[in-house]
Amino acid sequence: MRLLLVEDDALLGDGIRAGLKLADYAVDWVRDGEAARLALGSHDYDACVLDLGLPKKDGLAVLRELRGQGNNLPVLVLTARDTHADKISGLDAGADDYLTKPFDLGELQARMRALLRRAAGSVSPTLAHDGVSLDPASKLVTLNGQPVTLSAREYALLHDFMTHKNQLRTRSQLEESLYAWGEEKESNTVEVYIHHLRKKLGAELIRTIRGFGYRLGGDSE
Ligand code: CA
Repeated sequence: MRLLLVEDDALLGDGIRAGLKLADYAVDWVRDGEAARLALGSHDYDACVLDLGLPKKDGLAVLRELRGQGNNLPVLVLTARDTHADKISGLDAGADDYLTKPFDLGELQARMRALLRRAAGSVSPTLAHDGVSLDPASKLVTLNGQPVTLSAREYALLHDFMTHKNQLRTRSQLEESLYAWGEEKESNTVEVYIHHLRKKLGAELIRTIRGFGYRLGGDSE
């Protein structure tokens, strides 16, 4: 899962990024509204954490533009002031949720899980498919009720597949969800981790769609 964080306060941004990385999200961090617009136009994010008071272009303008383009990316807005007017204009501009500063990182993580869950069309906190279940809150993965140990990257890849069930995922989409900017990519990462996941969770779990990519679930070819 790859997130865009838009926050101009260095200290706060650093803390939020660290908190989200701890939850195994790949996080790109930009510090003004113009950089946010460029990032949103050039990358495939799973969600965005958006501060409202930003240099160059304010958060509401970024959000309105995004929604104006028909982009339904889940957006959690951060407001500095606890005013009803701010929350109302944020929600009216298309935010899915908001948090008032200062907030607890645990609450941000929980709200992010809820946003991603709703975006995946699920009301249950646990993602499940074919005997495999994944709980984003505890990061517990089980196969037929038995816990399975995954590395951070294996977990991140499985999380991506479980939130895009029955959808084709290309190698570059999967790579984008694993790595934030500036993180060094290992070669053949996606293939290697899919191999590991198949060994741990069953050879049939993730299908290779020749020439296109991979898919969790759906009819066989
Ligand atoms: Ca700000």
